[in-house]
Amino acid sequence: MQIYWTPIQQVVQEARDTYTFKLELPEGFTWEEGAHTHFALEGFNQEDKPNRSLIRHMSISTLPHEGAIGITTRVKSECSTFKSILRDMNIGDKVAIFKTHSNVPLKREGKNVYLLSSGVGISTFRPLVLSYLANGEGVPHLRSVNVESSQEYLFSDVFKATDAFTAEFVDSRRAYHEAVETLAADKDGLYYVVGSDDFLRETIATLRERGIAREQIVLDKHDFQLDDFLN
Ligand SMILES: Cc1cc2nc3c(=O)[nH]c(=O)nc-3n(C[C@H](O)[C@H](O)[C@H](O)COP(=O)(O)OP(=O)(O)OC[C@H]3O[C@@H](n4cnc5c(N)ncnc54)[C@H](O)[C@@H]3O)c2cc1C
Repeated sequence: MQIYWTPIQQVVQEARDTYTFKLELPEGFTWEEGAHTHFALEGFNQEDKPNRSLIRHMSISTLPHEGAIGITTRVKSECSTFKSILRDMNIGDKVAIFKTHSNVPLKREGKNVYLLSSGVGISTFRPLVLSYLANGEGVPHLRSVNVESSQEYLFSDVFKATDAFTAEFVDSRRAYHEAVETLAADKDGLYYVVGSDDFLRETIATLRERGIAREQIVLDKHDFQLDDFLN
């Protein structure tokens, strides 16, 4: 397993308590849209066993051509040890990334694609939207619905409508589920879902009740975890 130690280049505040940590691109490091990585802090591999309190799964919110690995996350005043260490890090400090993989690349199968997310989960989808806006081949229409109760919607510069892309932001779970019920009228679409496990279960239930097959639902989970959510 290759571990890349790479410095923080820049920290961009996206909304209240929400930051994108832009990491320098190590030579030879690349990824597909929808990728997640293991993001770890100094000391995580100093003992026999990795110290899990210093490792988190994180999606990469950028594409390689942007010249940085973007990690977007919330750091609230009450937070884990991991987030409090991250908050105090400086530009130039190194973090580790390893085991990078995309379970949710954009499927270009001639079907409409729906990106359903809650909160900072929209970060996973930012690279899919950029990829689609650069090349719409194989996806007749792309539509995103994000629920964010704070109304501080993320990445509104990318998530704005074009002829073939619709971006919707809502501020309540009720409005979100109403939107999903409407979208689920497309019995042939592909439904990508990113958010907390509860959010996934609720969204999957709404989709399945409306006749969407499990093969049409795309989650950022390993194959062995999918049954737990989709059965
Ligand atoms: C495939 C995958 C991709 C992911 N991608 C992302 C991503 O792109 N961005 C992202 O942010 N997360 C992502 N996650 C989730 C991520 O791994 C973390 O689980 C998440 O960010 C929470 O981090 P944390 O555990 O450090 O808790 P925190 O974010 O610090 O806290 C979580 C909640 O617990 C409360 N809390 C925590 N510690 C305390 C405390 N000591 N006292 C009181 N309250 C406390 C906080 O207020 C907060 O509400 C991903 C997960 C997976 C599996």
